[in-house]
Amino acid sequence: MKKFSVVIAGGGSTFTPGIVRMLVENLGRFPLERLYLYDNDGERQAILGEAIEIMLSEEAPDIDFAYTTDPKKAFTGMDFCMAHIRVGKYAMRELDEKIPLKHDLIGQETCGPGGMAYGMRSIGGMMELIDLMEQYAPECWMLNYSNPAAIVAEACRVLRPDSKVLNICDMPVGTLRRMSQILGTTPDQLEVDYFGLNHFGWWTSIRGKDGTDYTEQVKAYVKENGYLNQVEIDTQHTDPSWQETHKKAKDLFAVEPRFLPNTYLQYYLFPEDMVAHSNPEYTRANEVMGGREKEVFDTARRIIANGTAKENGFHIDSHASFIVDLARAIAFNTHERMIMIVENNGAIANFPDDAMVEVPCIVGSKGPEPIAQGKIPNFEQALMFQQVTSEKLLVEGFIEGSYQKVWQAFTLSRTIPTATKAREVLDDLIVANGDFWPELK
Ligand code: NAD
Repeated sequence: MKKFSVVIAGGGSTFTPGIVRMLVENLGRFPLERLYLYDNDGERQAILGEAIEIMLSEEAPDIDFAYTTDPKKAFTGMDFCMAHIRVGKYAMRELDEKIPLKHDLIGQETCGPGGMAYGMRSIGGMMELIDLMEQYAPECWMLNYSNPAAIVAEACRVLRPDSKVLNICDMPVGTLRRMSQILGTTPDQLEVDYFGLNHFGWWTSIRGKDGTDYTEQVKAYVKENGYLNQVEIDTQHTDPSWQETHKKAKDLFAVEPRFLPNTYLQYYLFPEDMVAHSNPEYTRANEVMGGREKEVFDTARRIIANGTAKENGFHIDSHASFIVDLARAIAFNTHERMIMIVENNGAIANFPDDAMVEVPCIVGSKGPEPIAQGKIPNFEQALMFQQVTSEKLLVEGFIEGSYQKVWQAFTLSRTIPTATKAREVLDDLIVANGDFWPELK
């Protein structure tokens, strides 16, 4: 079997060890020749790099492993780039969350004003990464997890339409796992229909691989409990703020009982509840810095100090599994069914062709082929059109350096009630983001 070469961009990410673990556990299905980490923060990456080097020397010594800040070394000859960068890191995420909250607006990583601020930072970093990949590895595919995925995907569509970049999100996979626990089965036994935008969609059907329809059973559960269950599924989605989110799906379901909601809709349908439940002094960024980030880097330091990863090593999370399955689908033309972010082109019949939508796709060596989801109801169509137009205006505003368009993008977000509020929070975010954003005139 061919062995593959993979570079993980954003090598210093808290998700890197989980992805490496998943790759190691799947060597039988996806053999590796080379595995390199690339980051523009060498110091941060080196902590994880050194620990992963120890782990691999014990578990998979045949893999050529390195970590580097040199793009030529990182990308040359690679088959896949698994990207998960965070431009501005957690320091800027904290501001994305806390500045909007000062204005009584949603303070969140990917939704609302904070998400748009993050989007304005991510576009430049992502285009830089794509260009490096194409310069040093023209055949390479980029599997991109970097957020905010909806805005990044729209920017890729406009700025790099021919690039081999697939933008993906682990949220539908994570929720499917919860649904499978509700049903007492596993995600690989289920097949779904879904439509929406990234972090803005609905499941219309949940079926067993044998065709049994479980949709009503899951709906009955979500009507009472949301997606909350007692099973510890991973570390990423069991923090207290995530538990609240799983519970809130009950309220989302009450608004639209025909379908099963993506939990991120809580920010658009119940923004005042979300603000009321936020602590402006301690947001999700603080929770992650004191939780997942601390745990991952503490584990890395412990591995380095002990000189071994055999006990108390890194573990796999749900984020990691999807990206390996996707790489396999492309490498081996498996035609696996996966939810992906793609240009609509008729997949949702009554929605613009040039919208980046999230729908089930058949993935093979040509990339994703969307599965038609038919027409969607007016309620969802209207919500999605408002949201996608906001995302498109933001990307246009970034490209043209247009204050007007970015202000309009903020004004269109359902998380911001008035143009006045939109302007106030935008002006604060411009100051906070400084050179991370293009100059807006
Ligand atoms: P993190 O801050 O721990 O790591 C991000 C790394 O990216 C840092 O080491 C940073 O130095 C590096 N980086 C920033 N800009 C770069 C550039 N231009 N080139 C190379 N490296 C660069 O962040 P994290 O919490 O581990 O998250 C990483 C990314 O994954 C984020 O974008 C996050 O939103 C995303 N994420 C996506 C999903 C999804 O399903 N789509 C799920 C979870 C996290």
